[in-house]
Amino acid sequence: MKYECDIIADLLPLYKDGACSGSSKQVVEEHLAECPKCAKMFEMMQDSSIDDEITREKDEVIDKQAKFFKRKSALAGTIVGGIFTIPILICLIVDIATGSGLSWFFIVLSAMLIPTSLFVVPLMSSRNKMFNTMVSFTASVILLLGVCCIINGGNWFLVAASAVLFGLTVCFSPFIVCRRPVNKLLKNFKGLTAMAACTITYIIMMICIGIVADAPNYFAYALGISAPCLAIIWILFLIIRYLHVNGFLKAAISIGIISIFSAFANSIIASIVIRTETTNGVVVYTDSSMFTLVIGLGIAAVLLVIGILVKIFGGKKNEEV
Ligand SMILES: [Zn+2]
Repeated sequence: MKYECDIIADLLPLYKDGACSGSSKQVVEEHLAECPKCAKMFEMMQDSSIDDEITREKDEVIDKQAKFFKRKSALAGTIVGGIFTIPILICLIVDIATGSGLSWFFIVLSAMLIPTSLFVVPLMSSRNKMFNTMVSFTASVILLLGVCCIINGGNWFLVAASAVLFGLTVCFSPFIVCRRPVNKLLKNFKGLTAMAACTITYIIMMICIGIVADAPNYFAYALGISAPCLAIIWILFLIIRYLHVNGFLKAAISIGIISIFSAFANSIIASIVIRTETTNGVVVYTDSSMFTLVIGLGIAAVLLVIGILVKIFGGKKNEEV
């Protein structure tokens, strides 16, 4: 053979793509005719190029289908959105015809944004459907509250809006943190972020209620009641999320803490609240039941024993495997 197989192997990709010079092409062809090893290698290269072709075609079909569905859902979104404008137009005409001002029109307009956010937004958004839907739904509910408050008067907007924001954060944040576009950003801090979002919106709600209520010592009461409750929720979250023990042990520790907390919560809260109270006597629910404490600690003890047994024997089983 005139050339080493190594040189031919280097030339083969160029030869396959028809990118080598005439003389190289001749050399490769001559070599392939007399070297079965290189001929076999060339055959395999051609086979893999067929695989590439199939993969490319498959991707094209999937892409085409995705585009087709995207177009269809955008069309459906436009139609649904169009249907939603009907009550808005009717209301506008009736409002103008009866000369009753545009108040009702604005309420209906903002109210229609709620079904729009639930039906049109997911159909129209090509990516981040869940995120866009939940955020637009929350925004439209708060907008409706704002419009109603402006038209009907009253100072309840802050309380209503912050309560709605807190409630929807509790419902939506676990789903939002697991979906695009935030899931990649948060990595392993999804649970922590959802908990932080709920805590922050809770604090905002309590501050808003305080501003509107304008009651003496409101913030002292709010802090006295909220702080122990928030603390217990965070402790349970950290145990369940970050403690590296089995489920039985986590349940035992959690139930134990809840039992102790529920038995003494009233006294803890009462001591904080009463200390801040200056004029009136404060009535705090102080009927702490030792019965709950005993039952709770009993269940926790049983789970603790099961958890320890599972840890001992489960560990042995794993070692055998
Ligand atoms: Zn060869």
